Amino acid sequence: MHLKSLTLRGFKSFASSTTLRFEPGITCVVGPNGSGKSNVVDALSWVMGEQGAKSLRGGKMEDVIFAGTSGRAPLGRAEVSLTIDNTDGALPIDYSEVTITRTMFRNGGSEYALNGETCRLLDIQELLSDSGIGREMHVIVGQGQLDSVLHADPMGRRAFIEEAAGVLKHRKRKEKALRKLDAMQANLNRVQDLVAELR
Ligand code: ATP
Repeated sequence: MHLKSLTLRGFKSFASSTTLRFEPGITCVVGPNGSGKSNVVDALSWVMGEQGAKSLRGGKMEDVIFAGTSGRAPLGRAEVSLTIDNTDGALPIDYSEVTITRTMFRNGGSEYALNGETCRLLDIQELLSDSGIGREMHVIVGQGQLDSVLHADPMGRRAFIEEAAGVLKHRKRKEKALRKLDAMQANLNRVQDLVAELR
């Protein structure tokens, strides 16, 4: 499995549709300060479902939409597509190539698609979670992030290791199951009250 290409349209400084193709191996993105290198990395984490505006170096989520320049009007939507080569079947889906697309509109609406079919964020998270490239997998190490790993307290360090080891996914599933269990218990209590009243 490897990343094949990334297409940005209206994402941050990439107003026009721009496609970056990646070959297996190492890819270097070079350019002057402020030319958009980090925006490419932001696009990668955004398309994989990043929900924190701060992690995307913005104040609010809409800040990822091209805000305009002196020569070009702002755009109403941002769209990023990431194509992953899945010939080795590392992603649990029956396609040799998988394209994840995320679109955001200035009115706040957001959409996800898998190979062109609209899907939920959860579907993308589930798809990526076993592959080691999900949003919370620490595969994207931002500027200054190494410092925070090195200076983390033992609990913080444990959280990093748990996330990298994939424990987080199971913790989230457990929390979801416990919430369902609580709701079921509340329903059961209500039914028991009704039965007691009818006796
Ligand atoms: P450095 O080498 O200094 O880290 P860089 O190449 O990583 O720079 P980025 O941080 O990716 O550069 O890009 C910053 C540029 O992106 C700035 O010029 C900023 O104005 C522009 N930019 C960020 N968000 C938007 C947006 N929503 N609309 C238009 N331009 C944007």
